[in-house]
Amino acid sequence: MVEDEATQRQLLVDYLDKQNFRVSAAEGGVALRRLLERELPALVLLDVGLPGEDGFALARWLREKSGRIGIIMVTAASDTVDRVVGLETGADDYIGKPYEPRELLARIKSVLRRSTGAQPASGPRVRMGRRVLDLEKRVLVDPGDGSEETLTASEFDLLKLFAENPNRPLQRDWLLESAAHREMEAFDRAIDLRITRLRRKIEVDPAHPDSIRTVRGVGYMFVPPKD
Ligand code: CA
Repeated sequence: MVEDEATQRQLLVDYLDKQNFRVSAAEGGVALRRLLERELPALVLLDVGLPGEDGFALARWLREKSGRIGIIMVTAASDTVDRVVGLETGADDYIGKPYEPRELLARIKSVLRRSTGAQPASGPRVRMGRRVLDLEKRVLVDPGDGSEETLTASEFDLLKLFAENPNRPLQRDWLLESAAHREMEAFDRAIDLRITRLRRKIEVDPAHPDSIRTVRGVGYMFVPPKD
């Protein structure tokens, strides 16, 4: 996240942190370049009005560096929108200040879905408990006999979220929100119920779950098999 204004920077870091994102903040281009030397982020939130190199210049630089990084421009009222969405910058989306945090969140998720959908972050197959999740075929595979078990769309979404975030406690609300789309499962929205069902499918001993663990007061955490 690139923002030169310290208060706004901190507010946004705190908010995104609470939403279970891993966020690094930079006050400008120099700090952003330093961060990218260490690691390529999945997404960059880019303030347009920065001292020195502005957000447009940084977006172009990011785009040259990688086509996979999602870019959301954060604009002030004085920035002209057609410059922002123009192909020139290579940004995926933009949001104007002041914005509702929830709207920003929705845009972040949408850009991440697009960029990670084209390129599964964790590879096509992920071991989960006694099963293997096939991200392309959207099935659970039994590594013993190769048999496949189909998943509902929401079961798959949930397992995919876990597979993409191993060893990280994930908030129940976040899981619910992230995996609740597509199907109208009005009577089956309770996340705990779905977790119970998934545990039956992947855990060695569903009564003592080892792969999808309960994190008290937070939600659930996927722990990949050790060996
Ligand atoms: Ca600014």
